[in-house]
Order: sequence, then C-alpha cells, then structure tokens
Amino acid sequence: MAILGLLGGMSWESTAHYYAQINRLVRDARGGLHSAPILLHSVDFAAIAALQRSGDWAQAAQILGQAAQGLAAAGAGALVICTNTMHKVAAPIAEAAGIPLLHIVDPTIAALQAAGVGRVALLGTRFTMEDDFYRARLVAAGFEVCVPAAAARDDIHRVIFDELCQGRVLAASRDRYLDIIAALRDDGAEAVIMGCTEIAMLLDGVSAALPLFDTTALHAAAAAAWLLNDGAD
Ligand code: GLU
Repeated sequence: MAILGLLGGMSWESTAHYYAQINRLVRDARGGLHSAPILLHSVDFAAIAALQRSGDWAQAAQILGQAAQGLAAAGAGALVICTNTMHKVAAPIAEAAGIPLLHIVDPTIAALQAAGVGRVALLGTRFTMEDDFYRARLVAAGFEVCVPAAAARDDIHRVIFDELCQGRVLAASRDRYLDIIAALRDDGAEAVIMGCTEIAMLLDGVSAALPLFDTTALHAAAAAAWLLNDGAD
C-alpha cells in the first residue's frame, strides 16, 4: 500500500482527528487489522503561528517545505497539509516535496457541488477568511463566497487560536458561532465551510442554521481514498 505524508501539528488537536479518521476509513474499507500507512511530521505550532502573526509566510513555507521534503524522502507518495491556513503557501511546500499534494479545498468543492450549493460562507482564521488564496479557488470553481462581518471574524479567529488549538471547547463560543451562522443565512448563504480544521471540535453534531461542510473530515476522506486506491489518482 502507498504511504501518505501528513504535515501536522497546526494544531495537533486537529491532526489527531485526521490520524483517527484516516485510519478508521481504511479499517472500515479493508477490515480486520488493516490501518493506514502514514508518515507524520508534526511541527511546534507556536513557531509557525508566530510567523503567521508577523506575516513571514516565506519563512513558514521554508520550514514546512523542508518537513515535506523529509516526508517524501522517507517514502511518502502524497502530501496532506493538515490545516486550511497553511494552504496559503501550499504551492512552495508541494514544490519542495516533489510529490503530489492533496489540496484541502478540492474535496470541499466536490462536496459543495454535490449538494448543489451556490453561495457559501467561509469560516476560518483571519488569514483564510480575508486573504485571497482560499476564496480564489472556490470562486474559480464557480461559487459565490461570503464571510462574516469584521467583529464576527475577530471572534472566530480568537476562538480558534485561544481556545480550540489549545484544546478548550467552550459552550459560549459555540453559541457565538451559531449566532454568526444564523446571520450568514439571513445574508443569503446556503451553506458554511468549516474552513479551519479545529472548528468541528466545536460544532460537530450540533444543529446549525445552515448545512456545515467539515474540511477536516472531507480532507481525511480524500486522503483515505488516495491510500485505498494505492496512490493512483
Ligand atoms: N488548523 C487551522 C486551520 O485549518 C488553524 C491553525 C493554522 O493557522 O494553521 O486553518
């Protein structure tokens, strides 16, 4: 079976979900004692988050590119970057690795298209909601993309870094997210992309005003499918 390379630790809370979900899907498909051949490079997120805050994306890309190169050298046949935000520098990371990248937005696009969604709301870090790298890929696929108002974006970003990435799941923050999603529905959004790999920790199984698309689950499913297809596209 092919080997998958995971670039994780951003945060490790969500990487743990990737690891469990990919293994569960491979076990369910193959049965018995089967599990997923995975190489994981899990970084110290404090260093990467500091580079995000200072806007030094080139240095972040350099560190992650080197890690990805290591995964490829150790035998990984494809790369999964276990965070939406760091897809801002997905191209240089994939180039450094020299192996195919399973991009997080692609299975999300496929799921939204299958559900017939046209106008979609994007929740994630400030970088994901406000920079162009994520939105542009969705727009190129034909979606109309909206984000919450500025004060709501601040709250969403703060909850991700100050709570979820540190393993804290608070009821008050869940309520705030649900209020924001209700406002997005009132603005005409038809669905919500949980465009941060920790948001499912807060909203999984919760009833919201709009259908929720979980990028962690969708990305993990695409990764498992790659493995089950033995690395063929
Ligand atoms: N895991 C998060 C994401 O999917 C946020 C952490 C990060 O900035 O990488 O964007």
